[in-house]
Amino acid sequence: MSEKTTHVIVVAGAGPAGMAVAGSLAKSGHEVIILNRDVKFGGLAEYGIFPSKLKLRGGLRKQYWELLEQPNVHYLGNVSIGKGKDLSVEDVRGLGASAVVFSIGAQGTKAIGVEGDTAQGVFHAKDVVYHFNRLPGFGDRPFDMGKHVAVIGAGDVMVDIAHWLTRYKKVERVTAIVRRGPAERKYNPKEIRAVCANMDIEGITKEVERIKDRLAAVGQKPDEILKGLLGEFTKCEPKVSDTKMGFKFLASPKRILVDGNNRVRGLEMEDNKLEPKGEDTAAVGLKQLYEFPCDSVVFAVGDKVDETVGLPYKSGVFVTNPTKTGHDPDDALFQAYDESTGEILDGVFLAGWARKASEGLVGVAKRDGDWCAEVVSRYLASKAANSKPKAVLEKLHAILRERRSHPVDIKGLRALEAAEKAHHGKTDCIGEFKFATNQEMIRLIEQGKG
Ligand SMILES: Cc1cc2nc3c(=O)[nH]c(=O)nc-3n(C[C@H](O)[C@H](O)[C@H](O)COP(=O)(O)OP(=O)(O)OC[C@H]3O[C@@H](n4cnc5c(N)ncnc54)[C@H](O)[C@@H]3O)c2cc1C
Repeated sequence: MSEKTTHVIVVAGAGPAGMAVAGSLAKSGHEVIILNRDVKFGGLAEYGIFPSKLKLRGGLRKQYWELLEQPNVHYLGNVSIGKGKDLSVEDVRGLGASAVVFSIGAQGTKAIGVEGDTAQGVFHAKDVVYHFNRLPGFGDRPFDMGKHVAVIGAGDVMVDIAHWLTRYKKVERVTAIVRRGPAERKYNPKEIRAVCANMDIEGITKEVERIKDRLAAVGQKPDEILKGLLGEFTKCEPKVSDTKMGFKFLASPKRILVDGNNRVRGLEMEDNKLEPKGEDTAAVGLKQLYEFPCDSVVFAVGDKVDETVGLPYKSGVFVTNPTKTGHDPDDALFQAYDESTGEILDGVFLAGWARKASEGLVGVAKRDGDWCAEVVSRYLASKAANSKPKAVLEKLHAILRERRSHPVDIKGLRALEAAEKAHHGKTDCIGEFKFATNQEMIRLIEQGKG
């Protein structure tokens, strides 16, 4: 590609979406600067995907290393964007790049807002997942789960939490609390193999029996549903604990019940029925409340974006342009938009979970990044060339120096990787060594430089 048509683009966030945007734009010859909150790249591919999925994680790591080795890709980890952080959104926009893509994932927590949700023993799934994947700041925090854990949700993240609880914490009982019925379960049947050896089949059979009239009332066939549910409990991973896993269906937590020390002792639950909603069903509360004893509660109900970053935000999402352009993919879906001025933020784009929180697997985030890169390319085609990465990088480093930030570049990452490999054998429960804090990583990297 000729000098004339190249640009400098900043990609904020090095998860699967950001890496896809960066990869695609770098391939077109542009200079790409990646800024990432975590020292390491990968986002939830590094700190979300279950630790035992070594093949998936390893493959992604290899692919991301290859991208970062490209001469026109510049990586700076340990750089957070947001109000009061290393850089504000305005700082990033003022660096002189032609476009900025925010692919910073969905870092906010979605609470269902029930009384008592700040009690000891209430956790958000993302924090638990970050804990068992040893993200600095979470790895060393105690997660005291007690004996009986209620996990609220029916998706793959609920299964991952249950997997950790059965395999590593070896708690006595895990109960998935599901607002609707077994037919509306959302997890992938392949994922349930991680925990199906621990299923309390008798308990699950009784649970479906308990709600059978409410299922039949919307035309569902309880016997067939039970058969389908239990039928997925095949090819189970070997059992490594006596944990029993079960489900509570048609159940909505209304209040977290606590003891005198503000520690969880149970949930106040409302029984639901199902009502038809188009092709689907909706849960409707029956106003019949009951107590469900448990020692801790994990909310696995999805994430929302971090509204404190400083991008236009509304109801859990960053706002995008409401006026469609008719392109495929439609530019508007990726353009950040300020409702107070009624204008798009020129040159600011969104991709991945930052655009659609909790939407899909790595492949979906990657595809979103690819689409975003197409939209950015269309935008760049209408702009004069801007190929001065040196000036942008100098400005960036000057701000980071002034703020006393400690950005980590690819050399630092290599030093870190070598140090982690040298700890081989001293692995923790996730089967590989990871430094527990950013300070330890930065100290090691800076020692290497000196
Ligand atoms: C528990 C769990 C398990 C999963 N398991 C699987 C699985 O087994 N298989 C699968 O295919 N998919 C899985 N997924 C889905 C997959 O992880 C996501 O689809 C994907 O990671 C989303 O990519 P993303 O780039 O949009 O966001 P993320 O992966 O969240 O990446 C966001 C990046 O932005 C950075 N960042 C955040 N805030 C800032 C900021 N303020 N400034 C600068 N940088 C910032 C972060 O450091 C991170 O690197 C799982 C997800 C979860 C939550």
